[in-house]
Amino acid sequence: MLYADVIIDISVASLDRTFQYRIPPELTGKVRIGSPVRIPFGRGNASRKGYIVGISETPKFPPERTKDIAEVPERELTIEDRMVELAYWMREQYGGTLYEALRTVIPVREKVQKKPKRIIARTAPEDVIEEAYRTAVSKKHKAKARLLEPFCSQEFIPYEVAVGKMSITKPTIDYFVGEGILEVVDRTASGFGGDGLPFALNEEQQVAADTILKRRSEGKPFLLFGITGSGKTEVYLKVIEQILAEGKQAIVLIPEIALTYQTLLRFFRCFGDRVGYVHSKMAAGDRFQMSEKARTGEISVMIGPRSALFTPFPNLGLIVIDEEQELSYHSETTPKYYSDEVAKKRAEGCGAAVVFGSATPSVKSYYMSESGKYVLLHLTKRAKEGAELPKADIVDMREELNAGNRSILSRTLRKALTECLSRKEQAMLFLNRRGYSGTVSCRSCGEVLKCPHCDISLTLHKSGNLQCHYCGHTTKLPNVCPACGSKYISAFGTGTQKIEEYIKKEFPEARVMRMDADTTKGKDGYDTILSAFSEGKADILVGTQMIVKGHDFGKVTLMGVLLADMSLGVSEYSAAERTFHLLAQAAGRAGRDRLPGRVVIQTYRPDHYALLCAAAQDYPEFYKQEITYRRMLGYPPCTSMLKVLGLSKDEGVLSEAMKELAAAAQAEGVTVLGPAPDYVRYVQDTFRMVLYCKAASRDKVKQVKDRLERLSFENVSVQFEFSE
Ligand code: ADP
Ligand code: ZN
Ligand code: ZN
Repeated sequence: MLYADVIIDISVASLDRTFQYRIPPELTGKVRIGSPVRIPFGRGNASRKGYIVGISETPKFPPERTKDIAEVPERELTIEDRMVELAYWMREQYGGTLYEALRTVIPVREKVQKKPKRIIARTAPEDVIEEAYRTAVSKKHKAKARLLEPFCSQEFIPYEVAVGKMSITKPTIDYFVGEGILEVVDRTASGFGGDGLPFALNEEQQVAADTILKRRSEGKPFLLFGITGSGKTEVYLKVIEQILAEGKQAIVLIPEIALTYQTLLRFFRCFGDRVGYVHSKMAAGDRFQMSEKARTGEISVMIGPRSALFTPFPNLGLIVIDEEQELSYHSETTPKYYSDEVAKKRAEGCGAAVVFGSATPSVKSYYMSESGKYVLLHLTKRAKEGAELPKADIVDMREELNAGNRSILSRTLRKALTECLSRKEQAMLFLNRRGYSGTVSCRSCGEVLKCPHCDISLTLHKSGNLQCHYCGHTTKLPNVCPACGSKYISAFGTGTQKIEEYIKKEFPEARVMRMDADTTKGKDGYDTILSAFSEGKADILVGTQMIVKGHDFGKVTLMGVLLADMSLGVSEYSAAERTFHLLAQAAGRAGRDRLPGRVVIQTYRPDHYALLCAAAQDYPEFYKQEITYRRMLGYPPCTSMLKVLGLSKDEGVLSEAMKELAAAAQAEGVTVLGPAPDYVRYVQDTFRMVLYCKAASRDKVKQVKDRLERLSFENVSVQFEFSE
């Protein structure tokens, strides 16, 4: 006899409250974990709907006191059924518990005060607004100009976007209300539908949109490969217009960091209040409210980072994943899912189209379209007249050293920066590091100061404290080396803070701003720095990779990349791809508007194909080289790989367990690499070891995962992750 654990209330708070029911013999073949069922519940045996989350052979209570599952509903599945189904699939694919998967898929139910839904609308004609806008610009009233700018071409903006993403204060809004050119109104009363698409698509865009709409029934995803500025967003908008006309809904994923108010406003402008959005800093209550609006049909387009994938639209017609190569689409918490795979799975269930968009597609997606599994669509021209792709120079830093230049700026970059400043244009300097001065080491004995809980070197911050970026452990910089007592301990390497100081010293007349994890900690820190820079409050922006992700700064004409090869040193098969994406994006930042742009890439490996191709903005050539290398060494996407990560406080126990796992995997007939200590050997006093299994197909490595999952070890936890 089989027994099922059933959850009744689909809300995160009660996911772990299960009730056991008997599975009557006639239903045995019809149910599995994840199945919706109807059950008698409580004293009156009221019929309730629930989901099976576990099946076992042992009753928790005397069998005669256990009730039977009444029936398996045969009717069409509801959106909840399908989301639970998706969670079940994710658990199967990516491991972890069903509880963890459900928690990812189901919104946290929160009571919220219904906030008034308001918009800011213009009450004056366009030319009056434009006049006021020009006045604000000339008087350098930045906030006023920022608020008025969208109204030069559209009727309204959501109030919460203005005071949130746009960092506009209430007095600024009130000022224009007082002037009689803007008004704040209740959105429900006005019911703005949006203005439709702002302009006609060009030929390439039209072909892309038509192809998506025509061929979506084939069930293949589309890869929209379009250079930066080619107008991919306009293609999405066009397709969404049709989807909405059919009474269906659309989800648009955009990496959090690229989800600026400009992007949001483009969607609001077209589709009005049918657009909703989420972001990671949103309160749980607001998120839940958004998700309810989606479920009940109040909104039809959802924009957000990867979690927006789980928006409970009942009749989903389209999923767009923009900048699909971004790492942030891969979840870092269990279940460690890939958004592209989940999107395909979800779309398959409801016949929705999936569109991946990128200027530099992931090697995986391009490989898929090469092998005919995706439909490839090309946008080869910039949509706006006049914008040219910038010219990129690669500077060999070894030659700089030979010529006696020990500074972090090459002669080429220094000259370009000087020229850029004298033209009163803006520059960005990109460094892929964080913190004041990297690691601290002893010059006498070579000891590197490490976190006592993690196998990670501590980073010196300007405050004089040493900090661990893994666990947050903070300590004072010691006066002498803890190993040998030498007083010659010093910081090593270069961080954004140090570069900022250096640039301020070298270019005292320039206004310098910094953007990295430290300066963007607050709720709106990131948006504040971005808008300040785009309003011209600084001449140079120094920062980490945050500064290279998808922003349009018309006046930036120089992008300097300091130490481009840093990310090539990472011990992962995808290191070259990551480096290429970063550099190609960085190179695309300069010269977005009318002004010609310039890019200077500093490196110690000037002949590496990832750098050369990024500088030339030549994706096809990069792909050709990269796929050859992956094929040769049997890396994904040419093979399927499974990473098995073991964690334990006891290194010996862990090592034994990993050997056993390796043997079990070998017995399944796949190639096994390792076990070996992880790149980081321990974190928070827990040891980490990895082994990799490689096979021709995902099905095969999944079979291995299922096999290994059945093994269990005392004091060792094991995590699985597919990589491709
Ligand atoms: P991508 O996302 O491909 O980098 P965007 O969609 O952001 O490009 O478009 C770049 C710019 O070109 C935007 O300012 C957009 O308004 C403009 N644009 C796009 N399509 C057209 C078009 N058909 N006609 C005129 N301008 C366009
Ligand atoms: Zn020492
Ligand atoms: Zn630590």
